[in-house]
Amino acid sequence: MNKKGVFLMTVFDGHSDLLYDVTRRRLQGETHVLERYHLDRLRRGGIEGMVLAFWYGAGPHNETFWKDISDADTPAVRLERMMLCAWDEFAECPWLAVVRTREEAEAARTAGKIYAFLCIEGMEALGPEAEQAIDSLAAQGVRLGMLTWNEENRLASGAAQDPGKGLTSLGRRVVQRMEARGILPDVSHLNDGGFWDLIGMARGPVIASHSNCRALCGVPRNLTDEQLRAIRDTGGVVGLNVHHAFVHRDPARQTAEMLARHAAHMVEVMGVRHVACGFDFCEFMGPGNDGAQGLEDCSGVPGFFRCLEQMGMSSRDQEMIARENFLQLLSSFLPR
Ligand SMILES: [Zn+2]
Repeated sequence: MNKKGVFLMTVFDGHSDLLYDVTRRRLQGETHVLERYHLDRLRRGGIEGMVLAFWYGAGPHNETFWKDISDADTPAVRLERMMLCAWDEFAECPWLAVVRTREEAEAARTAGKIYAFLCIEGMEALGPEAEQAIDSLAAQGVRLGMLTWNEENRLASGAAQDPGKGLTSLGRRVVQRMEARGILPDVSHLNDGGFWDLIGMARGPVIASHSNCRALCGVPRNLTDEQLRAIRDTGGVVGLNVHHAFVHRDPARQTAEMLARHAAHMVEVMGVRHVACGFDFCEFMGPGNDGAQGLEDCSGVPGFFRCLEQMGMSSRDQEMIARENFLQLLSSFLPR
């Protein structure tokens, strides 16, 4: 923030579901989706780069657009369709660079482009040959990966499942393969059993790209203080999530100010170096997907940093949370 209160900082959003909107609209025949519906808001929000997730789950009650798409009734087909839509869309975006490394990200930023790392959000689509599938995802540029969304699959169980279940033996082999191929393990949707199994076996950093603190909002998608410390101990980061239900149980307190308190709690428990952004904006998915008050869409991001400022957080700490911590991690965890 400069003296006139103009937002100068730019932000790396470690979890974005924009490819959901891209896929939904492209399957209906639209093109240039990001440019027509999202680019202006991204610029207003100061988003310099993001992680674009492939989330192809059909949702808890099969309520997503996929139910209206013929021949897309298996996760594998949905993922394939989504990837085709994404790459067709990227080809229409001269202002966007899909990147794999921090150097590529910085080069894109210097050229005035928004950059994007790719993430797979849930591996329900992977069959018994999941390890080979990891090789193929890595070859397509995927740099972050979650074993599950909220479902139980052949690798692990998601946050909505029995917390006692852990990783399967295939799940463990997949984590090893991810680390070998430079795909960062992301525990944001894992259940507690899977979380601790993954932490116990990981050789490098583990992240939770879009989860808040259970101490302030006790839902399974958020992390306990013990889990936050475990992520810190791997050298990982935790990304702050705007989704209303992960900010506070009381609707009146689902606000940007309350999310700033999650940030402060994370700083207290882990140290500022491990706090990042993974906003998870998905207002474009329809009712039930609202962000916290003041963070209805990504154009509210500068307001969130004003909340951190008002809490007394230094500009240096804000910059680390805004972009540096996540980028630093991606640059230290490279494909081998
Ligand atoms: Zn998610």
